[in-house]
Amino acid sequence: MLSPLALIGIVMVSCLMGVAILGSLLRTAVPGIGRWCVAHGLLAVAAACVLIAGSLQGRFVTLAVALITLTAVLLLVQGMRQFFGKAWAVPQETGAFAIAFVALVYFTLVSPNVSAKIGIVSVFFAYARIAVGTLALRHAPHDGARYPYRFVAAAAYLGALFHVTRAIAVAFGLPQTAFPEPSAWNVLFLGLAIVTFPCMSTGMVMLAHDQLARRMEQLANIDELTGVLMRRAFMARASVLLHDAAASGRPLSIAVLDIDKFKAVNDSFGHAVGDRILKHVTSVVSTRLRPGDLVGRLGGEEFAIVLVDTGKTAAAALTDELRLAVEQSPREGVRCTFSAGVECVMPGDTLATTLARADAALYMAKEKGRNRVIIASEAHERGVETHGATATSKLVC
Ligand code: GH3
Ligand code: MG
Ligand code: MG
Repeated sequence: MLSPLALIGIVMVSCLMGVAILGSLLRTAVPGIGRWCVAHGLLAVAAACVLIAGSLQGRFVTLAVALITLTAVLLLVQGMRQFFGKAWAVPQETGAFAIAFVALVYFTLVSPNVSAKIGIVSVFFAYARIAVGTLALRHAPHDGARYPYRFVAAAAYLGALFHVTRAIAVAFGLPQTAFPEPSAWNVLFLGLAIVTFPCMSTGMVMLAHDQLARRMEQLANIDELTGVLMRRAFMARASVLLHDAAASGRPLSIAVLDIDKFKAVNDSFGHAVGDRILKHVTSVVSTRLRPGDLVGRLGGEEFAIVLVDTGKTAAAALTDELRLAVEQSPREGVRCTFSAGVECVMPGDTLATTLARADAALYMAKEKGRNRVIIASEAHERGVETHGATATSKLVC
């Protein structure tokens, strides 16, 4: 039979390694990392207590070990909630923890009962592991790699399986022995801890890395002020949509939008108000786009939208609806409008050529008095098609 003390030593070392790895991520301020780190530290302390006391453990040492372990397990669950942006404390859980705490004191100091203690710890461990696994699966982001979340869940459920089995064994009166006695249950418990603890800490590091990668992606792709794609990310995604449209033969249109006389807004009301108006206009536009459409900030007060499965006339009508929505939703007493040029992708077009024609139509919309939408190709070939204030949303050729 394997020596439980040797196994406890391995558990202690793996918990300390968990502290070191999670501790190295503390400065990233990923929510939950602090609690996970302390939890691993407490588990290492509990293992060290058992190792130091050896077979001469008194009641106070066994009680301390049980209470430290319980606290560590609670911190793991709370850390998981923090990680997913949830409130870390759940009243029922805290209540159950307090009851388990008191029961452990009772079955250690008042009416010693090893099986009852092991039953309590097993139920609490099982609950905590199921909670960790379920949180990981339920709140895993839908975009991107889900395997770190599945990995954590698998490690958590594997541990839970053992604890449920042990709790059932206690309920059916199967004899249990305290640590570090070399019973089959104890060795199995430690063997499983050796496998699942490092898996859990590795999984938690994977979750933290996933969140950091998402943050970096966000920083690189999303405009902080308006929350829409920045130019580079927009161009990359628009190119993909353009290639898809070319491959499928479905129409695709692009509109370039520029807020009218925005410098005057800044000059009259200040840059901060200008910022908020910019944010508001973007929100009006992006909330009205259809699923699959794309919006990006090309720079300053200029935006572009890609309208999938849409020919240029329909695209101009949609863009004009956006124009009206913006015009009819003044913010902070400022009535804001935009002008736009719309163009559809033609055979042999690239994103750059389509954008350039839409931009030329935008220029024309500005020249013709602003607050209007102009379709590019007609503007070049047969005069001007325009939607907007002065054209009262009628096509003029
Ligand atoms: P036009 O109708 O011809 O487009 O006139 P305009 O005033 O909108 O155009 P212009 O290019 O002269 O000025 C654009 C202004 O947009 C100047 C700049 O200060 C402002 N702007 C660009 N980016 C931001 C921003 O992030 N926040 C704020 N508040 N203003 C911005
Ligand atoms: Mg402008
Ligand atoms: Mg501009």
